[in-house]
Amino acid sequence: MSAWEPVIGLEMHVELDTRTKMFCGCAVTKGDDPNSHTCPVCLAHPGALPVVNQRAIEYAARIALALHCTVQPRNIFHRKNYFYPDLPKAYQISQYDEPLATEGWFDYWVDGETLRCRINRVHMEEDAAKLIHAGGDAGRIAGSDYSMVDFNRGGTPLVEIVTEPDIPSPEAARELLQQLRNLVVELGVSECNMEEGQIRWDANVSVRPEGSTGLGTRTELKNMNSFRYLQQALDAEIPRQIEVLEAGGTIALETLHFDPGTGTTTPLRSKEEAHDYRYFPEPDLVPLVIDPVWVEGLRATQPELPAARVQRFTGQYGLSRADAVVLGSSASMAGFYEEVVAAGAAAKPAANWTMGEYLAHLNAAGLEAGHGHVTAERLAKLVKLVEGGTVSTSSGKEVFALMIEERAEPEAVVEKHGLGQISDAPELETAVARVIAGNPAQVEQYRGGKQQVLGFLVGQVMKATGGRANPQLVNELLRAALDG
Ligand code: ADP
Ligand code: MG
Ligand code: ZN
Repeated sequence: MSAWEPVIGLEMHVELDTRTKMFCGCAVTKGDDPNSHTCPVCLAHPGALPVVNQRAIEYAARIALALHCTVQPRNIFHRKNYFYPDLPKAYQISQYDEPLATEGWFDYWVDGETLRCRINRVHMEEDAAKLIHAGGDAGRIAGSDYSMVDFNRGGTPLVEIVTEPDIPSPEAARELLQQLRNLVVELGVSECNMEEGQIRWDANVSVRPEGSTGLGTRTELKNMNSFRYLQQALDAEIPRQIEVLEAGGTIALETLHFDPGTGTTTPLRSKEEAHDYRYFPEPDLVPLVIDPVWVEGLRATQPELPAARVQRFTGQYGLSRADAVVLGSSASMAGFYEEVVAAGAAAKPAANWTMGEYLAHLNAAGLEAGHGHVTAERLAKLVKLVEGGTVSTSSGKEVFALMIEERAEPEAVVEKHGLGQISDAPELETAVARVIAGNPAQVEQYRGGKQQVLGFLVGQVMKATGGRANPQLVNELLRAALDG
């Protein structure tokens, strides 16, 4: 049996957080009364003329630049014709063969490894209105009694990002999307709110014999909006394709629907029968000429983005690449870590505590970095107590837990619970003597030349002192007592 490898390409749609719509002055809002932000342009009254929203172009260009794309000096808007109740014009103004930006790349991390995905294009379009299916079995389009239309969303600026088919696995596809979403959020051009459907994506997937370079026939999974379902859908679709091919069959170029309930993909429609959109240049808009100087101005004012930040963390703080990825790839985590360091903690132990105890706390409490129950200042103080030897590493973890439980400063916790490190020789000598007396067999082994047994004895003293003993000192005292 030959081995197969999947090939995945993604198309991601992002609604931009501009103040107004793509081609009219109506406000872009969320949660307002339905149909309260409409005008002749976005309701498609005859003769109403679209005007391009410059802010939307700026935001889309910022995305394109972050993806290393070339922003094209000449842009054409096209009409993409199709009928749907959420589209009053019966065409969407989109871009076709002269899009905003082309040919870039996006570096993302999977399991500590950097993968590069080429970006085919970034283009502008407008969102459709929102259909609300009601009555009957409203969860399913076919099952509801009637549908209502909210035109508030109609005409919202939408950016489409299209990748090349470079993604090697379902897991990588999920990582790429999550990291791409992060990037867009950090650019400040969209909150990418998943519940509001601000980002949606289609996944295209095919399989090919492992190691070959051609592309097999793909299927398309449409309009997904959950990272987990994306991975599940691909995990289901890839073996299905392999099975078909191994049985001597062929893959049909079709659009599939993934049912998370059954975990299977089923055909929605064949791509061969897909609409011919009859694209033609929008006659109501002149070509959009983008001044390269303006583009350079945008480039110069881009915020620091995750990839650059990860790079900076390796240099500035001497972190390994893997640690820099954990701490640097999201703004919230990076911000917290840098606050800990700014508050005086040394970079490496600060990294270890942030990735260790602090991250575990965030995960357990379901909180985002910066919103945990330990402030960066307090964590920095704890790191300093441990580094300075006032608190042992193992007691430090206890102190951390108590800082959360009691919402208290580390010094107060150490004081109240007597968690200070014991670095006092006479106090430790008693424990050392007791451990020597209690473990004659190990003592004999050590004296017989088996040096490794010392570690065990140190551990016993640590245990006897509730983890508070200074391990360095215990080591010295044990050696002195045993060798002497
Ligand atoms: P369409 O015009 O049907 O949307 P595109 O050429 O724009 O097709 O490609 C859409 C998406 O499908 C892109 O993300 C691309 O990377 C991906 N894609 C194209 N061919 C394949 C293939 N053979 N296997 C997997 N993905 C593919
Ligand atoms: Mg496409
Ligand atoms: Zn309008």
